[in-house]
Amino acid sequence: MSFSSLNLAAPIIKAINLCGYASPTPIQEQAIPKALEGRDLIASAQTGTGKTAAFVLPALQRLNAPSTLKGKGPRILVLTPTRELANQVSEAVRTYGKFMRIRSGAILGGVPYFEQQRLLSQPVDIVIATPGRLIDLMDSGRVNFSRLELLVLDEADRMLDMGFSEAVQTIASATPATRQTLLFTATWDRNMESLAKRLLKEPVRIDIAGKKTTLEAIEQQLHAADDMQHKSRMLHHLLADKAMTRAIIFSSTKRHADQLARELSEQGHSAMALHGDMTQGARTRAITKMKQGNVRLLVATDVAARGLDVTGITHVINYDLPKNAEDYVHRIGRTGRAGATGIAISFVSGRELDTLNRIERYIGQTLPRLVIAGLEPRYALRAPKGGDSRGRQSSGRPGASTGRPRTQGSWTPARGRSETRKPEFGARSERSQGGKKSSSFGEGRAPYREVKHQGGRTGDSSSRPTDRRNRWA
Ligand code: AMP
Repeated sequence: MSFSSLNLAAPIIKAINLCGYASPTPIQEQAIPKALEGRDLIASAQTGTGKTAAFVLPALQRLNAPSTLKGKGPRILVLTPTRELANQVSEAVRTYGKFMRIRSGAILGGVPYFEQQRLLSQPVDIVIATPGRLIDLMDSGRVNFSRLELLVLDEADRMLDMGFSEAVQTIASATPATRQTLLFTATWDRNMESLAKRLLKEPVRIDIAGKKTTLEAIEQQLHAADDMQHKSRMLHHLLADKAMTRAIIFSSTKRHADQLARELSEQGHSAMALHGDMTQGARTRAITKMKQGNVRLLVATDVAARGLDVTGITHVINYDLPKNAEDYVHRIGRTGRAGATGIAISFVSGRELDTLNRIERYIGQTLPRLVIAGLEPRYALRAPKGGDSRGRQSSGRPGASTGRPRTQGSWTPARGRSETRKPEFGARSERSQGGKKSSSFGEGRAPYREVKHQGGRTGDSSSRPTDRRNRWA
């Protein structure tokens, strides 16, 4: 299918051509025709699948015809969970609406009210908003939804997770019942179902197996870590990889993100932090610098797990695993975007074993366990029974690999390391199973997999980021 067969207006097609997109992505192919018919939609799709254009393009098509109603309020409202995502949707509107005369703007927290009040004081076509700030402005009587034709809920699952359910419903009920509603979500549960029932009319359901689509393009790896120092040494090793041109390192706390970014900068890396305690200006600056290629490493909390769309992120490193399994998918989805491939490396300490279990169950995969020669963990992640138990070590320097088999079993002491030392982690997992010595993961699962460190990077050449059109063309 080509974009021209979607019956979009000429200025929209012109902008798409300028972006260099060869053809619509699967979500665009399915969602755009239904949205153009005026149907309500529930689309299950992850970020990285092209979902933003799937709703922005039909929204722009609506704007191609003038409104029949007078007034100042927005004709289209997009609600997003985070400011980053709101900014990105705004950017997409500017990109795809480049050849149209439209007025759009973002309404989000962390920035002064003045400009947003000004935006709403004149006729506006598209407003992209985070729920909290929009409700503030509605409460002060500044928003008029009488002209609203289309409501888009982007990453609706995340909005519910963040406690915006009531705010979303309040906003929706302030808009005309005649509106069209498009709901995008990566996951589906009862809360989402009940929200959808309230807000949508006879929706068409589109399910792009987003989880898989996104993950297929990403080479995932796991490294057992003894403690923070061990994580730090492994990170240092990985950063020597020249193929890592842009990476996001996820940390679980804002404080640690700051500290790690500072340490990395002191070690001569070009690194910046990105977290929710920073001002919006500082957050935007960090993202812009990475987009421009002026910063190689962003050390981020989950504020960047969703919505952050920077082309060419080659690696995502989970310094700490996210508590929420879905966030793992979102985090690693920062790489492998727009048809490219990427590498996601996670460090797992003993206290993160349960989280790892949840993640592996959620994604339906066992992550390949890797060991860096010279930086072996004291306790190896368990290899499964009955499988090919041969594990491989990569060499201490990026660029070569050795094929020494690893032990099979639970959190077993790794060879060549002190066997008398009590496990700092793993002990909990071994003991917590009624005295039975079994790991909390690894049972019945795939064994270690060979992943070579070649030419200064992990993975084979097929996992290099490729042209953005490759995967979908
Ligand atoms: P999204 O899932 O909306 O965050 O989009 C992910 C990335 O895909 C963005 O960088 C878009 O610019 C890019 N993209 C969107 N549609 C297409 C397309 N049809 N072909 C190639 N890239 C696309």
